[in-house]
Amino acid sequence: MKRKRVKELLAGTANGEKVLVKGWVRTKREIKNVAFVALNDGSTINNIQIVIDLNAFPAELLKDITTGASIGVTGTLELSQGKGQSVEIQASDLTLYGKCDPDSYPLQKKGHSMEFLREIAHLRFRTNTFGAVMRIRHAMAFAIHKYYNDRGFFYLHTPIITGSDAEGAGEMFHVTTFDLNDPPRTKEGAIDYEADFFGKPTNLTVSGQLEGELGALALGEIYTFGPTFRAENSNTPRHLAEFWMIEPEMAFWDLNDNMDLAEDFLKYLIKYALDNCREDLEFLNKMIDTGLIERLEFVVANDFVRLTYTEAIKILEAAGRKWEYAVGWGRDLQAEHERYLVETHFKRPVILTDYPKSIKAFYMKQNDDGLTVRAMDVLFPGIGEIIGGSQREEDLARLTGRIVELNLPVKDLWWYLDTRRFGTAPHSGFGLGFERLILFMTGMSNIRDVIPFPRTPRNAEF
Ligand code: ATP
Ligand code: MN
Repeated sequence: MKRKRVKELLAGTANGEKVLVKGWVRTKREIKNVAFVALNDGSTINNIQIVIDLNAFPAELLKDITTGASIGVTGTLELSQGKGQSVEIQASDLTLYGKCDPDSYPLQKKGHSMEFLREIAHLRFRTNTFGAVMRIRHAMAFAIHKYYNDRGFFYLHTPIITGSDAEGAGEMFHVTTFDLNDPPRTKEGAIDYEADFFGKPTNLTVSGQLEGELGALALGEIYTFGPTFRAENSNTPRHLAEFWMIEPEMAFWDLNDNMDLAEDFLKYLIKYALDNCREDLEFLNKMIDTGLIERLEFVVANDFVRLTYTEAIKILEAAGRKWEYAVGWGRDLQAEHERYLVETHFKRPVILTDYPKSIKAFYMKQNDDGLTVRAMDVLFPGIGEIIGGSQREEDLARLTGRIVELNLPVKDLWWYLDTRRFGTAPHSGFGLGFERLILFMTGMSNIRDVIPFPRTPRNAEF
């Protein structure tokens, strides 16, 4: 018989049909001669109830059906007598696949802390919370591809190992095959990267953008969706050393088009989750964050505020608050400032534009004021920056000027500059941090809990 998923069975009618289901025992309770097992197979947050006549099975088998054990059940789908579920399975045949020792299984008791679950990240998928988060994460990945595919964007695979260290988005992880105790040296005693695998120093990418631009300036509209790496030693609830990013890049789009896309894209993803992940969201809304669904619905229903960095600084200066980090024109905004604008002042998502060039990357289009660039950051409640993007500098002279001014290696960027030499065009793009999106979408409070296996300073277990 073909196995049916719990999700499918719960959606069916209790017609006495004979079915086969397989999964992991969440709980078992016995009343008189009957055992009730709540079985979960990961297809949904909900369990299916298995009713077992204790007299119909050997005690040897029944004693091993404990929390965490993996079993197969054949039985009939019946109308449930008890509250809380519509259908249940009257077991006629039981198979034990894997025992689960109750004394050492760490997920026995309910209500483990997130910190504890992080230490058993190999098992935390089996909790309701992580099941819900991972199903939503999957739905978002799918919706992202659907969104861009439906709009004629091409999925471009940019390299994970990069030879350019000029991306300027943060500290990088070196990639080498050298024996670090004994690397080849030049006559002068420096490390001889000529002799390394790629014949030069290489790193893990911090962003696919520069390569994404090359694709956009031929294919029109592209997006990347892949892992990125930052060796920044920032131990915050919003930073990972390995995270996923979605980076659309569009030829002939200006900053306004870029903002429209960012807003439409985020609203689409939220709406997709509301339409397709209802049960998981309701669970998270009940157990993790009681404002979650209301907040998601609010963001879909309301326009984002758009204003310049300069206007934002005026608002922050007038706020009459004592900030941990000083506010002033030319200083970068910290999460506390971003969240004040979003959560207290405007009470909705905000897109800030036209930041000082000194705090933004070299590739952003320079405004005629000589001071600011066509940057945009999308700021979200509870998160702060969720998207960073810009219109790119398409003018060769201005772009080169900025690279020289910042002492970046012009020579290494020859391929990037070539696009401005040969048929340059206005273009724009942004990066959405996938895990920051999932944080917002789930109401979880730590970014370590929305990625299956978090990598953070001093942590690369599993
Ligand atoms: P922040 O100021 O929060 O560190 P950033 O300015 O370094 O962000 P960008 O370089 O613009 O961010 O990266 C684009 C997006 O990637 C950000 O808007 C954010 O959503 C996400 N992001 C950046 N750094 C991280 C990180 N270390 N972990 C997870 N997501 C990140
Ligand atoms: Mn950063």
